[in-house]
Amino acid sequence: MEAIVPGDVVALSGLVRRVTAPNPGVMTGPGTNTYILGKGDLALIDPGPESGPHLSVMLEAAGKRLKWILCTHTHLDHSPGAKALKAATGAQLLGFAKVPGDGRQDTDFAPDRAMRDGDVLDCGAFRLRAVHTPGHASNHLCYLLEEERWLFTGDHVMQGSTVVISPPDGDMIEYLRSLEKLLALDLAALAPGHGHVIEKPHDEVRRLVAHRMKREQKVINAFRSRNPATMDDLLPLVYDDVSPRIYPVARRSLHAHLLKLKHEGRAIEEGDRWALK
Ligand SMILES: [Zn+2]
Repeated sequence: MEAIVPGDVVALSGLVRRVTAPNPGVMTGPGTNTYILGKGDLALIDPGPESGPHLSVMLEAAGKRLKWILCTHTHLDHSPGAKALKAATGAQLLGFAKVPGDGRQDTDFAPDRAMRDGDVLDCGAFRLRAVHTPGHASNHLCYLLEEERWLFTGDHVMQGSTVVISPPDGDMIEYLRSLEKLLALDLAALAPGHGHVIEKPHDEVRRLVAHRMKREQKVINAFRSRNPATMDDLLPLVYDDVSPRIYPVARRSLHAHLLKLKHEGRAIEEGDRWALK
């Protein structure tokens, strides 16, 4: 598989091109993927972070033919680029109406058209259907390109890294439910917000669910050495397979696992300590 290079416009299918923003990192992999759809009137999914160079590339690749800008969610690496792109092209902005109030969001985001689960955007030569997939973010939408059965997954499914679930807006129960929801869709490929296109979508979704359940089992096992325990006690036991560099991020997903166990009546939270029943 060819490496993803920020700024390169890559044709992926008859209708889909990808250009990656210059924001590589621990959380973003090679950078945020922007997808440009269509041949006549164009739609664009996830304009990415505020970035002059990325704006130039998007304008060169889509320009005045751009009619619709869709955002999967409002984390800062996905939607802030919409503002300048909309100003330059006059395209309509679409996404979930409500921006979560957890301090991790692009609070300026205000769609011209709010999209809800099942809503369809008719782009003439192709159609995009919104699939509400809360879990990574409560306002997260995937978009299904009906003609090619490609699902644009934003941060619901990434390639090459694990999606972070950050409470309180991130929710592990919702996340697992939203993964299962994809199994009901007839899909040819997943086009993630970070990383390469994923083939065999249902196999990948099942792998991701299994991965989360395996991690949950590690949380349960970690209580064997100490119960009750703090998150700092649990972290190195539950994430013994990742670099400590990742711990600050892994801690948030650990919290999400613990909240799931609490919600299910399997764990208790007492101050900064957690106990398994
Ligand atoms: Zn995100």
